[in-house]
Amino acid sequence: MAEVEQFAFQAEISQLMSIIINTFYSNKEIFLRELISNASDALDKIRYESLTDPSKLETQRDLYIRIIPDKEHKILALRDTGIGMTKADLVNNLGTIARSGTKAFMEALQSGADISMIGQFGVGFYSAYLVADRVQVITKHNDDEQYIWESAAGGSFTIARDTENERIERGTEIRLYLKEDQLEYLEEKKIKEIVKKHSEFIGYPIQLVVEKEVEKEVDDELEEVKEEVKEEVKEEGSEDQQTKIEEVEDEAEKKEKKKKTIKEMTKETEELNKTKPLWTRNPDDITNEEYSAFYKSLTNDWEEHLAVKHFSVEGQLEFRAILFVPRRAPFDLFETKKKRNNIKLYVRRVFIMDDCEDLIPEYLNFVKGIVDSEDLPLNISREMLQQNKILKVIRKNIVKKCMELFSEISEDKDNFNKFYEAFAKNIKLGIHEDTQNRAKLAEFLRYHSTKSGDEVTSLKDYVTRMPEKQKDIYYITGENRQAVENSPFVEVLKKRGYEVLLMTDPIDEYCVSQLKEYDGKKLVCITKEGLELDDDEEEKKKREEEAKQFEDLCKQIKEILGDKVEKVQVSNRISESPCVLVTGQYGWSANFERIMKAQALRDSSMASYMASKKIMEINPNHPIVKSLKNKVEADKNDKTVKDLTWLLFETSLLQSGFSLEEPSSFAGRIFKMIKLGLDIGEEEPETMEADEITPAENCAEESKMEEVD
Ligand code: ADP
Ligand code: MG
Repeated sequence: MAEVEQFAFQAEISQLMSIIINTFYSNKEIFLRELISNASDALDKIRYESLTDPSKLETQRDLYIRIIPDKEHKILALRDTGIGMTKADLVNNLGTIARSGTKAFMEALQSGADISMIGQFGVGFYSAYLVADRVQVITKHNDDEQYIWESAAGGSFTIARDTENERIERGTEIRLYLKEDQLEYLEEKKIKEIVKKHSEFIGYPIQLVVEKEVEKEVDDELEEVKEEVKEEVKEEGSEDQQTKIEEVEDEAEKKEKKKKTIKEMTKETEELNKTKPLWTRNPDDITNEEYSAFYKSLTNDWEEHLAVKHFSVEGQLEFRAILFVPRRAPFDLFETKKKRNNIKLYVRRVFIMDDCEDLIPEYLNFVKGIVDSEDLPLNISREMLQQNKILKVIRKNIVKKCMELFSEISEDKDNFNKFYEAFAKNIKLGIHEDTQNRAKLAEFLRYHSTKSGDEVTSLKDYVTRMPEKQKDIYYITGENRQAVENSPFVEVLKKRGYEVLLMTDPIDEYCVSQLKEYDGKKLVCITKEGLELDDDEEEKKKREEEAKQFEDLCKQIKEILGDKVEKVQVSNRISESPCVLVTGQYGWSANFERIMKAQALRDSSMASYMASKKIMEINPNHPIVKSLKNKVEADKNDKTVKDLTWLLFETSLLQSGFSLEEPSSFAGRIFKMIKLGLDIGEEEPETMEADEITPAENCAEESKMEEVD
């Protein structure tokens, strides 16, 4: 007897298994899809390895999946001649190492997901426990002995060298000891139905071992008679043996009912998935149901695809491809460590690999499908692929077709909304990365705007609404819609009838920094310096005059604030607020600074280099600014001016979307104002220490309060 080692399931896996076992769930049949999919993956792996080392197939050349129902012992077995698992694989893959999907799947279940989604989370194997209370995995890898894994759940499993079962050349057999109420999965009809439904497009033969009852007609009586005749002939020795026998046979035929039949059981294998690869067929002859079934078997998705593109490229280079856009993003779309199985690569109908990164750029990592090339060599290795010119052309074509596919989706508003909700980040990432397709991708952008109401607008529609004298496309970035919509920066543009795009996704900052323009129109961030609003001559003159009038105030403010601001100037972009802080045209916006801080940017040198250079813009028409000007003119060194300036600066930091460096000194100033408002005199005990508050200790005079109000 080989030594049996016991292992504990990793805690989350154990938890997942009890959920699978205990949840009332009627659609249990999906377990078969999951196990077949694993078998198919295992076959893919050995086939891929054999491309560079053909000897790996020597242990077993036939590549197939075989389903073996055993009614007598109530076992449903699934054999594959795939790569198999070493002992270490068994330990790691089936129980001790949790994947991110384990937890994610349980969370998804809690928020209403369906158990049939299990495959997408990379824990499909455990669906075996939907129908079985005990599972054995017998497996043989080229590099190891035959092992048997076994578990009846309950937190543990065992692994032992397998010396008892039939030898496996290479591959895996999963044995399901079915629960008493799940015996229907031993029925030929049921199995055929499920395979047809869920696994029709698996690229390896799925064989079902069926028991056939063969009725053998044995005419016992006739045989007896024949024997008798023979004896007779021997004895008599005279008459013609053959004629006699024939006579007897004729007679027997007339009394056919006397024939006996014996029932004999024989086992045969029947192939269940004989369909031709879908992509080799003419798109006109393929129904949406067929595409959907193909998509589901390709991706483990439980929903059908949102859109599909089936095409072939001919000429110098030939390939066929089917591309799908799913209905939603996977739970780990941007988990970069995970290898993606998005576009499966075939060469002349032979599967090569399913994680060929060079077939599609990363930002399109949500597009699924297959590519079948006529030109690539069969024994191509991963390293060769990276250099391969054919592959580069295929990739270019795939990207082009993706753009067409997205355009097609955008023709239906509901579908496009779904698409955008799921994949807007990818589109924006694409704009950032893909110079060649930037303009095309920009067509798919959608934003709320100051004129779009509840809807979102495309850049194209924005442009059609631009008043004639508007030259640029205006946008603002910020944390959420409310913040940007009510931002002081939006005021003047709104007043002038200009529409502002409201960008609230952190990735928008990256996206617009590359996009720069659309349809020949510059994209202008309204919180940055250099906002030109096409003023007429009269307005320009007026502003020049204002600049002169407020020159002293600007100087004084700059002196007070020191290097907190780059400069102080009269603004053309605010109407209701006294002042705002704008940032340099090429530096970070306030919003971007917030994002970078949130990402805990380590490299502080970069931060100080890029961090927003702030320019304070004052509103010459605002009463606060006007009266501040009067104060400065009356007495340059008025201490109230200093304190009020700091308050103004800090308040507009907040209003412009920055964060405060020293919230406590800001709070100190505010408390002082509150005291003023409440008429609390100096004799009251000070709660805020005066030296915590930058200068102007004696601004507590009621008369001054009114001006600030
Ligand atoms: P996934 O298939 O998404 O990786 P599963 O839970 O279905 O997740 O399977 C877990 C792992 O167990 C697989 O990744 C594979 O390494 C291993 N495995 C499962 N079934 C087989 C099989 N038939 N042959 C070889 N390895 C298998
Ligand atoms: Mg699986």
